[in-house]
Amino acid sequence: MKNALVCGSGGFIGGHLVKKLRGEGYQVRGVDIKRHEWSPDAADEFMLLDLRIEENCRKALTLDGKTFDEVYQLAADMGGMGFIHSAETEIMHNSALINIYMTDLAARMGVPRYFFSSSVCVYRDMKPGEPEMTEEGAIPAHPDNEYGWEKLYSERVALAYERRYGMQVRIARFQNCYGPEGTWVGGREKAPAAMCRKIAEVEDGGTIEVWGDGSAIRSYTYVSDMIEGIYMLMHSDLHGAVNIGCPQYVSVDELVHTVARVAGKRISIKHVPGPVGVQSRNFSNDRIYSLGWRAKVYLEDGIKQTYPWIELQVKAVK
Ligand code: NAD
Repeated sequence: MKNALVCGSGGFIGGHLVKKLRGEGYQVRGVDIKRHEWSPDAADEFMLLDLRIEENCRKALTLDGKTFDEVYQLAADMGGMGFIHSAETEIMHNSALINIYMTDLAARMGVPRYFFSSSVCVYRDMKPGEPEMTEEGAIPAHPDNEYGWEKLYSERVALAYERRYGMQVRIARFQNCYGPEGTWVGGREKAPAAMCRKIAEVEDGGTIEVWGDGSAIRSYTYVSDMIEGIYMLMHSDLHGAVNIGCPQYVSVDELVHTVARVAGKRISIKHVPGPVGVQSRNFSNDRIYSLGWRAKVYLEDGIKQTYPWIELQVKAVK
């Protein structure tokens, strides 16, 4: 039986990844600074540790006499655009420390395979209709925010350790990921969860506020597709960064209309000033496609899975 360590197992994608790995027959240790809110006992073992501290990273990686076969590093100080713009120093400090210590110790302790969760935030802003950007397009670098810069730096840390220690490194650049059991309230939620919450809270015929003019273009990747992509990439021989995303590009207003349709509500949008992020995104997924991966769940179907779950959370706190 293979052993896997999932850093950030108390979070959204990490929580889903734990379940996937257990389903594949792995013995899984999860580690996080907080327990998972909805699936706290999904891993075989959970360690509550702050991975900004080197000694805690060592504890997480120590497995009586053995070495983890695979380490998945998803722990990060993380949130949607509102959080990314208001917590620049926390992101640059906390996530960088986690990645510096985890990568260094994993390599020195002989971990053969290491996964790092990066982001399409490493890319520069794009204009709507620009040709697809490939992974190499991240350099020369001009990320829109510090979150992207930290990811780019940590990718390079991981690749440097791969060169020095021979640890096989796999790096995915995730597009926006959404689905049940993700943060939906509190300031760290991302756009799909925020729109689901706002529409669940408002009465039929009501108005919701949306940051910016609603024209920013994004693609949204459903969590089961993302997990499948992570798993396939980790077990492939694809070196360097690999984009993982659904090729369906929609405006923020289209996202709102999709959620409203699924909710069965008539909604008006009031555009208000707020942190929007880049104007457009359009990435090549050719590298992950070369493994046979394809997004299976497009936006409306993914929202049909996500909206009812968020509606339940909204009703539960009323
Ligand atoms: P998340 O916030 O739900 O999960 C991150 C987890 O890291 C949280 O449970 C958090 O408690 C944990 N963490 C933070 N600081 C820690 C510390 N000091 N020690 C231990 N654990 C700590 O986020 P997510 O959406 O599941 O994202 C997972 C990874 O994927 C992150 O690295 C994120 O940057 C990356 N990513 C996510 C998206 C997305 O759309 N969700 C997009 C691009 C990249």
